This record gives sequence, C-alpha cells and structure tokens, in this order.
Amino acid sequence: MNPIWAAAGAVLGLLAGAAVRGTVFRLSVPSGHAGQLACPRCSAPTPRRLARRCGGCRRSLGTPLALELATAGVLALLLGRFGGQPDVVALGFFGVLGVALVTIDIAVQRLPDPLTLPAYPILITLLTGAAIVGHDFAALLRALLGGLCLAGLYLLLALIRPGQLGGGDIKFAGIAGLALGWLGWPVLILGAALGFVLSALASLALLAARRVTLHSAISFGPYLLGGALLAMLAAGR
Ligand SMILES: [Zn+2]
Repeated sequence: MNPIWAAAGAVLGLLAGAAVRGTVFRLSVPSGHAGQLACPRCSAPTPRRLARRCGGCRRSLGTPLALELATAGVLALLLGRFGGQPDVVALGFFGVLGVALVTIDIAVQRLPDPLTLPAYPILITLLTGAAIVGHDFAALLRALLGGLCLAGLYLLLALIRPGQLGGGDIKFAGIAGLALGWLGWPVLILGAALGFVLSALASLALLAARRVTLHSAISFGPYLLGGALLAMLAAGR
C-alpha cells in the first residue's frame, strides 16, 4: 500500500463521489420509474448532472457525505494498491461505479441499466488501454472471459432460484468479472466466492436479528462489490 497514492485516491474519491451524487440520486427509484425528477422535500426539479444540492431548498441530494466518503475509502485502497500501474484507471473506474451502484441497490434494491450498460464499453476500453501500455493482451482476454464467466454464473443462479437475483445483479457480475478476470483466474474465483460468503454471513446476521425472513429479497450488489474489492486488494503480482 503506497501512502501517497492512497492519499491521492482519497482526494480523487471525494471529488468522484460528489460528481456522481446527482446521478445516483436521480436513479434511486424503484424499477419501472423514470427517475427521481423532483426534490422529495420541496418538489423543485432535480438539477442536472454534477449537482450535489437541490436548486430549491439547497438540501443535499441523498445522505450528505456518505457517497463521497465511501468513494474516497474505496479509491484510497485501490490507488494505494494499484497506483502507478497501467490498470489503475480501469480499476479505479470499477471502484467508483461500484460504490454508485451499491448506494442505489441499498436504497431501492436495483442496479439500474443506465449505469451498468455503459460501464461495459468504458471498462473494456480502459482495460484495452492498460493492455496496450503494459503489453499484456493475455490479461485482456482473461478479463473478457472472466466477465462472461461471472455473468454466466449469476444468470445460472437466477434461473435456478428465481426472485433472488435480478437482471441488474447479472450485469454487475459481468462488470466485476471483467475487473477480477483482468487480475487473474485465482482473483476471479476468490472474488466470486467472497461475494457469496459475505452475503451468507449478512443473511445469517439479519435472520438472527429477525430483520428478514428466509424469503426476503436482499440486495446482492454490496456483497458482490465487497467480495470483488477484497479479492482485488489481496491480488498478488
Ligand atoms: Zn429541494
């Protein structure tokens, strides 16, 4: 962990979190809704991109600072680990996207297409750039296969147990598979496994606390991201 890169990651993370706050706020609506187009407090129209506050009542869009601090923490860890390497931009992008998606998933139990679908071409482009700079096209091929594998695994699980995993989980799994596959097959397997372990531990804790029943749908995005980040940080190379 390089402390200078980690500090740079924390600063960049604060800025990135502030930059995506308006988008996260607008997309934090149940599926089928067009988007959160008005402030829930004063009904003023939601400001355009890059806004952090309502134009009417000047209140923060969403919980103040939560998104910025979460993004800062994730980018500090990722840049501290991968700073100075050709893939740092791609892996940092995955971190910022993941925090934005998980924030929405916790709020409204979905991972919206307007974030997951454009992430594929962006992440693949960034990884292609890293492959060119680092002369590592085997890693790029592995990333693409990793994305297919993890999305395929989640698709299979969604078919076996309908209602537990949604289409958003499958698309986010494909994105995580790209980043994990880039770092190696052991990282991909560890990241996928940790996602299920974290989810099982959280489900047991919630069951014990009687906060959910066996049939409750829980957001899977936080565990998928948590498992992926832990595996990425543990990746040896
Ligand atoms: Zn307002």
